[in-house]
Amino acid sequence: MRVLVAGGAGYIGSHVVLALQQVGHQVIVLDNLQTGHREAVENVPFVLGDIADETLLIRLVSEYKIEAAVHLAAESTVGLSMQDPGLFFKHNTGKGAVFLDTLVKSGVKILVFSSSAAVYGSPINMPICETHRLNPVNVYGATKIMFEEMMRWYEQVYGLRWIALRYFNAAGAAVGHGIGEDHNPETHLIPIILQTVLGKRQKVNIFGNDYSTPDGTCIRDYIHVSDLSRAHVLAMDALSAGEAGGIYNLGNGQGFSVQEVVKVCERVTGQKIAAEIAPRRQGDPPILVASADRIKSDLGWTAEHPELEGIVTSAWKWHRSHPWGYSKPVLKDERK
Ligand code: UDP
Repeated sequence: MRVLVAGGAGYIGSHVVLALQQVGHQVIVLDNLQTGHREAVENVPFVLGDIADETLLIRLVSEYKIEAAVHLAAESTVGLSMQDPGLFFKHNTGKGAVFLDTLVKSGVKILVFSSSAAVYGSPINMPICETHRLNPVNVYGATKIMFEEMMRWYEQVYGLRWIALRYFNAAGAAVGHGIGEDHNPETHLIPIILQTVLGKRQKVNIFGNDYSTPDGTCIRDYIHVSDLSRAHVLAMDALSAGEAGGIYNLGNGQGFSVQEVVKVCERVTGQKIAAEIAPRRQGDPPILVASADRIKSDLGWTAEHPELEGIVTSAWKWHRSHPWGYSKPVLKDERK
């Protein structure tokens, strides 16, 4: 299929582009490069632009004969969403609505949307099923719910076929493909730890050790970005085969505390990591672990890299070979 990937130059987006291409889909990337990297999608038709540029979208759909879309073009820094909610409502909800409406009215009625575990807020039951109550504790999570709701209405009114994938913690890199995680500023745990190993930071701040978890630090469910990306392919294929859409969690169903992640990183890198207890970060739920049973049974998804050690190893290969991310030349070849 000819698939438009909005936000395809980002960390997850570039891995989704790769996964789609690997099974023969023709991909066109639309990205404003505010946080994405042109180098992450070097061999793909690329359009620099805004998801709310209706004229551009209409032209793209007709020029490239787009049949389906993946939407990953969102503001995603959780902390920022609590400092500047308007930015998130304007971009994720407002521009998202224009994007959805324009696509559907141009005849594109298959959409895979990157949603988030942030829709659940601080969950009551663990592991979290898709039927769990929604109770976001940050604006980012709220905007993800809003877009899911919009798709539901567009299904009813226009026959949109859609799948929302609620990501848990994406990590790792597609080793050997020259793509990986490069955020500025970086806020995610694993890259921050690995940057510390590389001497780019002095220490890792562990945000709180007084949570109600065995070691007091927050527990998360880390999923390899390539496994997450393959789920987009399965979703796309299911929708194009006429199967029912809906909402799917994407995680490994296994939780690791911040302290445990630090230990795994020490094992993988063979280095002692300087870590210090810091105050809690606002809006962090103590535990987030997915039940991915629904996507396993409906779409046949399974993780190829379920072990945290393997996930960190792939991330480490990326960071070691690209210590400055995309902005500077690669130091040495990635080891496959
Ligand atoms: N975390 C931390 N120090 C950091 C970054 C993150 O202790 O410098 C913790 C954070 O509080 C959370 C976990 O690591 O419990 C994962 O955070 P991340 O930002 O990677 O993903 P999130 O769970 O927010 O999506």
